[in-house]
Amino acid sequence: MAARSMMMTSARLATLAVALVLPWLEAAEGAPWFWPPISGDDPYCLTWRVMVEANNAKGWRAVPAQCVGYVRGYMAWGQYYRDVGAVAEEAAAYAAQVAPPAGGDDGRDAWVLDVDDTCLSNQPYYQVKQFGAYDPVAFRAWASREICPGIPAMQWLFQTLRSRGFRVFLVTGRDEETLGSCTAANLAAAGFSGYDRLIMRGALYRGQSSVAFKSAVRRQLVEEQGYRIRGNVGDQWSDLQGDCAGDRVFKVPNPMYFVP
Ligand SMILES: [Mg+2]
Repeated sequence: MAARSMMMTSARLATLAVALVLPWLEAAEGAPWFWPPISGDDPYCLTWRVMVEANNAKGWRAVPAQCVGYVRGYMAWGQYYRDVGAVAEEAAAYAAQVAPPAGGDDGRDAWVLDVDDTCLSNQPYYQVKQFGAYDPVAFRAWASREICPGIPAMQWLFQTLRSRGFRVFLVTGRDEETLGSCTAANLAAAGFSGYDRLIMRGALYRGQSSVAFKSAVRRQLVEEQGYRIRGNVGDQWSDLQGDCAGDRVFKVPNPMYFVP
């Protein structure tokens, strides 16, 4: 009992220390001194997040003001990582059941993974921006720093797919010309190596919707290059809709922003 009580006290002290130190760390990164309070059980925000994940809420430009504290809590305090972990486990369980073609493995079974907030996290950036509207200049500056952390469950899924012999294509709406080399470097630093190709948005698709661009990429992989897309993982529904979407799609949670 004494040991359990000591553990409880230590846990409370650790929580208090994090609560006291975190605002100073965030302020050093440019965040405001005052944050909206974290509201983990706000019924409005819980419903809003379900609407977002189910693709019922569309076209929203920023997290509702009432839910900024809620989203911060969801992203930073454990539930997001629990949810991403569940997606990764489900995807890996499905991958384990995918049978090779009748004639044997021909090296054409593939997975498509999105990059931003699927493989690499932009949570630190959006948290400092208080989950506000998309700012292309600021986002480019952030991405150019090559410090987006890898999302642990997705690093694990990526390695699992590779070890099972799948071809993995990383497909991102990031602009190839301005963010090509830093995205490749960031992915390598975050442990994503051994993928087949990193496919980025080129001049031809600039200004087009994510669905149009990603559909065209997948059509090429399937219709011209003969790959079978067994699974497709993304944090936006626009990653997972359109042509040649894949035998199964897996939606990674993202209540921070919406990409049409
Ligand atoms: Mg994404």
